[in-house]
Amino acid sequence: MKKYLLSNIGNFYKANLHVHTNVSDGAMSPEEIKRIYMEKGYSVVAFTDHEIMVPHTELTDEHFVALTSTEISTNNRTDCDFCYAKTYHLNIYSPDENKNCFSTFDKSKMWLEHSYQYITDEQEAMQYNRIYDINDVNKVIKMANDEGCLVSYNHPVWSLQDYSDYAELCGLWGIELYNTGCARNGYFDTAQPFDDLLRQGKGVFPLATDDAHLLRDCFGGFVMIRAEKLTYDSIFNALKNGDFYASTGPEIHEISIDNGVVKILTSPVAFVGLSTENRHLFAKRDEENLLTEVNFDIGWHLDMLKQGISENPYIRVTLMDEKGNTAYSRAYFLNEIN
Ligand SMILES: [Zn+2]
Ligand SMILES: [Zn+2]
Repeated sequence: MKKYLLSNIGNFYKANLHVHTNVSDGAMSPEEIKRIYMEKGYSVVAFTDHEIMVPHTELTDEHFVALTSTEISTNNRTDCDFCYAKTYHLNIYSPDENKNCFSTFDKSKMWLEHSYQYITDEQEAMQYNRIYDINDVNKVIKMANDEGCLVSYNHPVWSLQDYSDYAELCGLWGIELYNTGCARNGYFDTAQPFDDLLRQGKGVFPLATDDAHLLRDCFGGFVMIRAEKLTYDSIFNALKNGDFYASTGPEIHEISIDNGVVKILTSPVAFVGLSTENRHLFAKRDEENLLTEVNFDIGWHLDMLKQGISENPYIRVTLMDEKGNTAYSRAYFLNEIN
C-alpha cells in the first residue's frame, strides 16, 4: 500500500525561518520584511531577532503568518575579539504567537541598546545566566521544549563548531544545512552534522534559511511547509511534525513508498539521491534529460535492515539541480518506512 512520507495533505507554503529586523541588528523593519518576502511568494517568516522574543501578530493575516521566535547565543570566550570565539546559536520558535518572554532570556547577552525597549515586565522577571557548556546548552534546549517551543541549531560552520560541540546536543528539532547569510560570506554548512545526529537516532529536521540582516542575504535557503491551512497553529504543527523540506531551489512534490519502492517527484533536477545511515546510496544522475520522477527499489536494503545490521536505520532524499542548488528531505526512520 502506498504511504506518503512527505505529507500530501493541504498545500505547500514557502517559509524563511530565520531573519533579523531593526528590532535587533537587521536593516529592515518587520513590515518591510513581510512585504519583500510576500513579493517573492513566501507565506511564512519567522522573526528571530537576537536575544529577545517579540511577537508580530499584527503582520499575520489570511496570506501571511509571522512566527514568534528568537535567536539566542552563548560564546565560549569574551576575552578577545568575537571572531576567535566559538558560539552556540539556537533559534527558539514559539507555539503561542503572543509569547513575549522565554525562560532562558539572558539580558547580559544583549549588545544592542535599542533592543532593550522590547523587554516586557514578564521577561524582566524571568532571567537565566547561559554559559558555554554542553550541559547548560542542553538545559536551555530542554527549558524551551518544556514551554512547547521548537529549537534549531544554527550555522555550525560560521560558529566554528565541530563534532565535539554538537554530538551531545539533545532535544533539537532542526539543524541548518544551509544559511544564506553565512553561505554568501563564504561559510558553507554541510549535511555532515545532520547525518552525525541522525546516526545517533536523533530525529532532527533539516533547515535551509536566510538569516537575513540585509537585502543581500534574502531569498536563498527556504523551507516548503506542507500544512492544512495558512494559520499560525497549522504552520507550527506542520513544522513540529516535520511536514516540510529544505531547499535552495529544487522542489519536492512527492516522496512515497509502496512495496519497497520509494517514489520521488520533483521539479527538473540533475541528481536525485536516497542516502542512508550507512554507505548505501541510491542515486540517479542525468544532466542532459533532467529528472522529475525517480523510483528506487530499496526492498533488499529493508530486508537487510530487518536483520538488525544498523543501529538507527533511515533514508533521506537529496536533490541537486543543474546549477548546483540543493534540496533535502527529512530523514525517515525504519519504523516509518516499513
Ligand atoms: Zn546566528
Ligand atoms: Zn541569525
